[in-house]
Amino acid sequence: MTVQPQHILTRRGFLAGSAAGASLIALHPYSAYAAANQAHLRIMETTDLHVHVFPYDYYSDKQIDTVGLARTAAIIEAVRAEATNAMLVDNGDFLQGNPMGDYIAYERGMKAGDLHPVIQAMNTLDFDASTLGNHEFNYGLDFLMKSVAGAAFPIVSANVVKTMGATAREDETLLRPYVILDRAVTDGSGGTHPIRVGLIGFVPPQIMNWDRRHLEGKVQTRDIVRTAEAWVPQMLEEGCDIIVALSHSGIGAAEHSEGMENASVPLARIDGIDAVMTGHSHLVFPSPTFDGFADVDSTAGTIAGKPAVMGGFWGSHMGLIDLLLERDGNRWKVVSSTSEARPISKRNEDRSITALVESVPAVLASVQKEHDETLGYIRRAVGKTSAPLHSYFALVADDPSVQIVSIAQKWYIAEMMTGTEYEGLPILSAAAPFKAGGRGGPDYYTDVPAGDVAIKNVADLYLYPNTIRAVKVTGAQLKDWLERSAGMFNQVTPGETDQILLNPDFPSYNFDVIDGVSYEIDLSQPSKYGPKGEVLNPEASRIVNLSHEGQPVDPAAEFVIATNNYRASGGGDFPGAKGDTIIFEGPDTNRDIIVRYIVEKGTINPTADANWHFKALPGTSVLFDTGPKAADHIGDVKAVTIEPAGDGPDGFARFRITL
Ligand code: MN
Ligand code: MG
Repeated sequence: MTVQPQHILTRRGFLAGSAAGASLIALHPYSAYAAANQAHLRIMETTDLHVHVFPYDYYSDKQIDTVGLARTAAIIEAVRAEATNAMLVDNGDFLQGNPMGDYIAYERGMKAGDLHPVIQAMNTLDFDASTLGNHEFNYGLDFLMKSVAGAAFPIVSANVVKTMGATAREDETLLRPYVILDRAVTDGSGGTHPIRVGLIGFVPPQIMNWDRRHLEGKVQTRDIVRTAEAWVPQMLEEGCDIIVALSHSGIGAAEHSEGMENASVPLARIDGIDAVMTGHSHLVFPSPTFDGFADVDSTAGTIAGKPAVMGGFWGSHMGLIDLLLERDGNRWKVVSSTSEARPISKRNEDRSITALVESVPAVLASVQKEHDETLGYIRRAVGKTSAPLHSYFALVADDPSVQIVSIAQKWYIAEMMTGTEYEGLPILSAAAPFKAGGRGGPDYYTDVPAGDVAIKNVADLYLYPNTIRAVKVTGAQLKDWLERSAGMFNQVTPGETDQILLNPDFPSYNFDVIDGVSYEIDLSQPSKYGPKGEVLNPEASRIVNLSHEGQPVDPAAEFVIATNNYRASGGGDFPGAKGDTIIFEGPDTNRDIIVRYIVEKGTINPTADANWHFKALPGTSVLFDTGPKAADHIGDVKAVTIEPAGDGPDGFARFRITL
């Protein structure tokens, strides 16, 4: 239903362009009064849905209020109800990113004529257009083309090219580069007029690296800004009144550089582009996140003076740009705008979440069948493990729950380094136990028996939705990285027995084990670093016999370490991981990489390779508390002499390690 807003709006109304008008726009962005020669157009955006339709976390197998197009749809419907002229676009990354996407790609498949559930859900909402995100390419071109074939709306992508022409305008693009929608707008006096809205889409050219195995020899990419400069004049020649860029690209540097991933600022600067819908970074714009970015007004919601928006991710927000248009001869032009990102939930002071909207039943219903099938999928085996996956001893010995993460990370990064200047450098992997007792209690451990592995188990192995990174470090930085990890342990007096091993102030997620090198930890030495990464004892050294392929690590040698975005950008304040050593930023979550590894390999072997252990200290023993079920796995632990030592506090079991 469409409410004719002018009845309401004349009472609240203002004259567009006046100072008073500007402040009223801010208060009531939907209530712009349009004069007879003016019209109001609201452009709504979803972005980075990643197959989230139901408000459901399939990894933890429970409902959540922070995600889901069914929830965003409630905001979309509300805006449509209050607007005379509204459009809805999606900014890409819809096909991949949760177990429903994996279920369709890995298990159900897409036959010609099949409807992909996220497309089905989008069809119910009557989208006007979408573009492709980088994750659309994750399952290959055949899967992508069959999926988008079901869309009841045009999908545009200007810089993915099947055959390169001499210039972009002579390219044969994979999908149409742009679309021009002929619509009617109702002006302030109730008259309707035609309007031509052009929509053009862009994806980071980096897809050629990220999905090389699917794309090489089949498509190529062009630079986002150069592609826009080629096509926008043609769209103007074809009579576009306004042009909206669907930029599946983040808000980054103001200056253009060839092939840049986050190109929305230089893109916005291009003449003829009136508004920029952004995404890819999974952030919210306008918001203080972008304070201080050159050519970006994070309060007004403009980039290079043009309206822009970024609607979070997984349906967390709906991005909204309100344009006030004015008749300019035979054309419409933008005279003012507002933008905002409307959330579907809010986080309270006690960190609990309150839903701000309810799901739209028609959207849920459109994918109910696939939702139910996905629940079956996450609960049944997708692969096998030849050894039990548990974390009971992850803090005292090399362990299978950490080993499998490193195996998968190394597998992925090795592929990404192929053909780069880093090919040939040793690839190591850093991973920490996430579920390792502590404040989580004596049951808070990963414990998957040998045999079947389900998707739900992967959440157990990798708790956080981090994304993959690679850093390049020196041998000296590598050693200090491990010194930082070794702060996990109290200092031990040689020759004394039953000393408490773990420092309770040190979170397990900062106990990085680095796979691909071997080393010992000398507990008789003080820790170089404190629990927050502060230097306590600059001369201290707990890491001994650090070696790579049997040779001592040269402090000047270079290594690639596979890790996650949290660590690589300074999380935990690790030496060699302060943001300046990143050489590769992957778009995939570490969790998705583990799923992909399991699905591809079928059977995985997570047996730990015992690449690290405590240095022998004759006559010395320590006590270590872990979950009581650890007793079943004591025989799995290599390179450490361990025996039960009664009960620990709070339901934990105590074990003695003889060093
Ligand atoms: Mn995304
Ligand atoms: Mg290992």
